[in-house]
Amino acid sequence: MLKSKNYQFWFCTGSQDLYGDVCLAHVAEHSQKIVEALNASGNLPYEVVWKPTLITNELIRKTLNEANTDENCAGVITWMHTFSPAKSWILGLQEYRKPLLHFHTQFNREIPYDTIDMDFMNENQAAHGDREYGHIFSRLGMERKVIMGYWEDADIQKKIGSWMRTAVGVIESSHIRVMRIADNMRNVAVTEGDKVEAQIKFGWEIDAYPVNEIAAEVESVSKGDIDALVEEYYDKYEILLEGRDEKEFREHVAVQAGIEIGFERFLEAKNYQAIVTHFGDLGSLRQLPGLAIQRLMEKGYGFAGEGDWKTAAMVRLMKIMTQGMKDAKGTSFMEDYTYNLVPGKEGILQAHMLEVCPSVAEGKISIKEQPLSMGDREDPARLVFTSKTGPAIATSLIDLGDRFRLIINDVDCKKVEKPMPKLPVATAFWTPQPNLQTGAEAWILAGGAHHTAFSYDLTSEQMGDWAACMGIEAVYIDRDTTIRQFRNELLWNSAVYRK
Ligand code: MN
Repeated sequence: MLKSKNYQFWFCTGSQDLYGDVCLAHVAEHSQKIVEALNASGNLPYEVVWKPTLITNELIRKTLNEANTDENCAGVITWMHTFSPAKSWILGLQEYRKPLLHFHTQFNREIPYDTIDMDFMNENQAAHGDREYGHIFSRLGMERKVIMGYWEDADIQKKIGSWMRTAVGVIESSHIRVMRIADNMRNVAVTEGDKVEAQIKFGWEIDAYPVNEIAAEVESVSKGDIDALVEEYYDKYEILLEGRDEKEFREHVAVQAGIEIGFERFLEAKNYQAIVTHFGDLGSLRQLPGLAIQRLMEKGYGFAGEGDWKTAAMVRLMKIMTQGMKDAKGTSFMEDYTYNLVPGKEGILQAHMLEVCPSVAEGKISIKEQPLSMGDREDPARLVFTSKTGPAIATSLIDLGDRFRLIINDVDCKKVEKPMPKLPVATAFWTPQPNLQTGAEAWILAGGAHHTAFSYDLTSEQMGDWAACMGIEAVYIDRDTTIRQFRNELLWNSAVYRK
């Protein structure tokens, strides 16, 4: 499900013909070495492809347009080894439409004190050429990422790798299709939004289907297929009967197995990568999709409850951005539920009615059945677990009427002090930065939702860069946040982002 293209990034070095062929031969040789080192480093999630040195307006324009149309190219990395007069870049950049990284590096690490002469200076003048080049982006008002540092350093290579994930998020955003089998929950404001504007800004297609169409797909799943999946569940997860009848329990689990198979078939057949449900609008479905949705999220589908298509699309987007990450800790839909306000132990207990992605789980995962306190269906089977510890981000995309705003909060995930044996849902627990009081105040001032798209594997920088590429407002709540400064940012942004 999470398989996407083997994206590549083009490495384009800028120069000019002022310094002669010998110099240009060195430029090409040096940039090839840098590309080889980047690819061999193991620090990049995608391949870098070397391109011939760009020295003229025509070649720059041609190369950047080829990058636009190459389906595998997710972005271009540029570097001015020598001086490349930036007027040569104007037409090419104006026509360029993909993410761009300005990698401000230099071939040599150290100034060669004993041998340095003017030939060396002219050949190795990124400090100078990259400033000329950077100027034209600022003049054009174009979005780009700038990373400065030595190309052999692992931390710099990792920064490039991190930006590559953002770039793939930008490219893949326009391939996200969200299936709504329920409308927004009645009277709820923050989960609403302008679907046309979302398609204009993010490329998302958000379509509604009658819930009974997907329910018919669920009903058509064969008993053999259901039994096989139930066996898999029983092998993989701990069964918490808690006094319930074994046979009835298994039958309820089988309903979720049918939903998982039927939903996945329906989504695949119609080419959707995210879905929303609503506990109050289940048609002929026998249970609120719980375990089934949790498993689909783990496979890479986006999801959010109560018709919240914005969060469902964000969960899908963030799963794409973390794709193939070694030692990934997980990405999920989440909801702020209840606080612990004990001094020194402050935090927010996170859960949802049922639907938390098992990718964030730590330790054993069990199947439970409990009545829902809402709706009118069978007691649904769900996976219960607690989540990993460590730094993570919680994001909320809201529609302010005249614009979208992405709120990004750095959070520290912790274990709760004690088990919660009576709580029948998967949970996480975190303290927002800079602390619960300021974090929650800032979140509420920004208008952030109770639903979030949450990930241990992405950074606020990556999500902020994605928002910048999408041309939307992003606000960060992190260890530097103060309420006075934050209120000012919101005020200034309201002027900057006004349509
Ligand atoms: Mn909810």
